[in-house]
Amino acid sequence: MSSSEKFYFQCSDCGKKYRAEEVQYLCPNCAKENTSQLPPKGVLQTFYDYERIKQKFPSSLFSQLRKKDFLEILPIHSAASLSFLKVGNTPFYEIPDDKSDNIFGKGKFFLKDDSQNPTFSYKDRASNLVSAFAKENGWNTIVAASTGNAGSSLAGICAAQGQKAIIFVPASAPKAKLMQMLMYGAQVIPVQGNYDDAFEMSIAASRKFGWYNRNTAYNPLTIEGKKSVSWEIFEQLGKNVPDRIFVPVGDGCIISGVFKGFEDLMKLGIIQNMPTIVAVQSEKSDNLIRNLKDEKFVSQPSKTIADSISVDVPRNFRLTKKYLQSYQGKWITVSDEDILKASRILSENSGIFAEPAAAASFAGALAFSKNEKFDAQSRNVILLTGSGLKDVETISKICNLPAPISDISELQKRKL
Ligand SMILES: *Cc1c(COP(=O)(O)O)cnc(C)c1O
Repeated sequence: MSSSEKFYFQCSDCGKKYRAEEVQYLCPNCAKENTSQLPPKGVLQTFYDYERIKQKFPSSLFSQLRKKDFLEILPIHSAASLSFLKVGNTPFYEIPDDKSDNIFGKGKFFLKDDSQNPTFSYKDRASNLVSAFAKENGWNTIVAASTGNAGSSLAGICAAQGQKAIIFVPASAPKAKLMQMLMYGAQVIPVQGNYDDAFEMSIAASRKFGWYNRNTAYNPLTIEGKKSVSWEIFEQLGKNVPDRIFVPVGDGCIISGVFKGFEDLMKLGIIQNMPTIVAVQSEKSDNLIRNLKDEKFVSQPSKTIADSISVDVPRNFRLTKKYLQSYQGKWITVSDEDILKASRILSENSGIFAEPAAAASFAGALAFSKNEKFDAQSRNVILLTGSGLKDVETISKICNLPAPISDISELQKRKL
């Protein structure tokens, strides 16, 4: 089966459809109007022949899809094109009732721990698919602009796949993430300027040198990679749709992936309703949420401590807004102090150490459960998108290392 028999692209703005081989990145018509001050138009969505898939597997459709690594709803032809690393299928934990009653009040709460991916962030889901697609379509070099996790993820996956990764980074990216890129053997190109400058340069470089580009909300396949979490959550909940999923949001690609995953399942008739998907941003980087109600997009400089969701112009704003409207999504902003507090509560109660951007979704669930009455039986999922070890600098503000002792008699003076 050729790619264009398997899937097609559709512009999320003008609705124009493209055969799989016809376009690679944005909708060529809509992208003409793009400027760097506004969220880009022309982000493509990937769709499949859902009716054909339903006819092919008339019974136990979900199990049939699982048996074949979900290839029917992925833009690649063989699971062997993916890296040998274990990407996705991450742990899913229910917070025990006694703890969750204390922390949140009523409701059941679950943690989807995506820090357990090979490079310790959710971004591996996207990198793995982009890398496999590159392999099947004859590219050996993949380039990306990144403030940290997307770059360290692409670097790691490419290391496993024997591909070359070139990462354009703003010089201010957190050190652990830069060290990861270098250790995985990627070519790291620090750029004078911010993420937008790195973004533009990476696109110019991929055009000039013929490299494949993984940039978020530019390459449509990142969302296709990120959607896999939805079928995992569905399966890990015993084939049930949760009531709510809390998702930390920067550019809006992860949350669009979560929507897309459930949307695919709806189109296949596997589920009948969508979960309520809740976008969480920091008050100090709320450019996506703040602009949802307005006609004209206005960006404010982001200053959050949660670097992975610190975004001035959310690249996937337009599609995220469409998804939130179509499927009655909700949203909430939290303060940086709340993020740090939530991060501590999460670690102390679960043994999971999340990076600030990931702890934001926990903070969002905390704030949301205070505002709304949750049904005791409601199932609430918190998406933990990255490991705390990626950014110990930020968290050191709320951690006090006690002075050293020279004799155990000094222990009596300490609260133990
Ligand atoms: C990238 C990232 C996010 C935000 O994802 P977007 O697609 O930019 O909205 C959240 N948490 C972590 C850890 C990330 O790396």
